[in-house]
Amino acid sequence: FNPQSNLRQISTTKLMVASSTASSSATASDEGEWSPTSWQSKVVSQAPNYEDEDELNDAIEKLGKFSPLVFAGEVRILHEQLARACSGQGFVLMGGDCAEAFGEFNVDHVRDSFRVILQMALVLTFGSAMPVIKIGRMAGQFAKPRSDPDEVRDGVALPSYRGDIINSEEFTPEARRHNPFNMVEAYHQSAQTLNILRAFSTGGYADISRLHAWNLDFVEQTDEGSRYRKFATKVDESLRFMKAIGVDTASPSFTKTDFFTAHECLLLPYEQALTRMDSTTGRWYDCSSHMLWVGERTRQMDGGHLEFTRGIGNPLGVKISDKCTPEELIEIIETMNPQNIPGRLSIVVRMGADKLRKNLPGLIRAVQREGKSVLWISDPVHGNTRKTENGYKTRDFEKIRAELRAFFDVHDDMGSHPGGVHLEMTGEDVTECIGGFSDVTEETLGNRYNTFCDPRLNGAQALELAFLIAERMRL
Ligand code: PEP
Ligand code: MN
Repeated sequence: FNPQSNLRQISTTKLMVASSTASSSATASDEGEWSPTSWQSKVVSQAPNYEDEDELNDAIEKLGKFSPLVFAGEVRILHEQLARACSGQGFVLMGGDCAEAFGEFNVDHVRDSFRVILQMALVLTFGSAMPVIKIGRMAGQFAKPRSDPDEVRDGVALPSYRGDIINSEEFTPEARRHNPFNMVEAYHQSAQTLNILRAFSTGGYADISRLHAWNLDFVEQTDEGSRYRKFATKVDESLRFMKAIGVDTASPSFTKTDFFTAHECLLLPYEQALTRMDSTTGRWYDCSSHMLWVGERTRQMDGGHLEFTRGIGNPLGVKISDKCTPEELIEIIETMNPQNIPGRLSIVVRMGADKLRKNLPGLIRAVQREGKSVLWISDPVHGNTRKTENGYKTRDFEKIRAELRAFFDVHDDMGSHPGGVHLEMTGEDVTECIGGFSDVTEETLGNRYNTFCDPRLNGAQALELAFLIAERMRL
């Protein structure tokens, strides 16, 4: 953490008015004329429809006065770690809810996700003998892209639910109205989440020797739970050995962990309002999160989302499906990372196993041919969503596993580094995805189907996947 970085606020009125002078004030970026508001002169897909401009400007002004949620120094630490991963020395683990929700927020929920991510990271570190970069899809993951702007129920059409940062789930005109003040509430919840994460990652909770104390119920009950226990015993033995030869296991590398946050950079008014200039470097950082990614549905070459992200100093991601051609990918890379800085850009591949086997080799080949430095991350969940006959949106554990297997196979063939995994998951024992040892079936989906958006792997399924990846990485 770098409390020294003095971050200057930007003033943000006239937000939604596309302005030809918007980009005249800032010169921090050396990639052409960019400012925190220059995206406003572009076409913005998935943009909310705020009816009252005064209300919007009021919300933006409030956010502009709030303190940054993350600090430039932290962002740079993440960037350095990602740069090492780019050269094969590291693996990214990203996970969290599809969408955070105001009503779902509580300390236990954050703690449980944090704990499972840490458990998975330990499994992966031990398995791969590589540093694992832990990133929560948390503290800002509120906005959702929707394929339909409206939802129709019994002949009544209302705006679709787009995540709590924009509107509410309840099917009434008032709840579905796009309310700019939801951004203010999302900020406050993110601040609380970050506060919890910071406390847990530095306050002793992440102590490796407390591994056994992290046991959740599922660790006791399930098969991978006993694998986990055996594994924990191995770690304990290693720690005892290290102590015996004089290694200080009370030192920070054993008791503290770096933990970063990321979310989809979808709602640009919010991101703009939290973008501040770091006075030590003169660079702009989006201080809503350490890392941000642009989604499959908003990555248009001439669109607002690429325009906004190209000017911020944060590490970036871009999600791609099979619709992305090698030529398009190179163009995206040149826009988001024109100086080809290692660690700046991760390509998050999400296309399902079959399409991945067909398409990923060509994409990697193009990147290799052009000498681009990127980190390849697999999102094996978004290409594997389906609806069951009884009406639940779900994902099959086996399909997720198959996509991961394909991802590792292709990278083996191409001589490139499989650099990470991005999952929708929770520490809680939900029944939203089918399969794995946890034996959730189509029939039992209804038991604890709690998601507001996409189905998440539960704690046991997520941990099981970590074991499978670790075994694969040991090869
Ligand atoms: C997501 O990560 O929740 C998401 C919407 O992903 P994608 O952009 O890949 O569809
Ligand atoms: Mn999702």
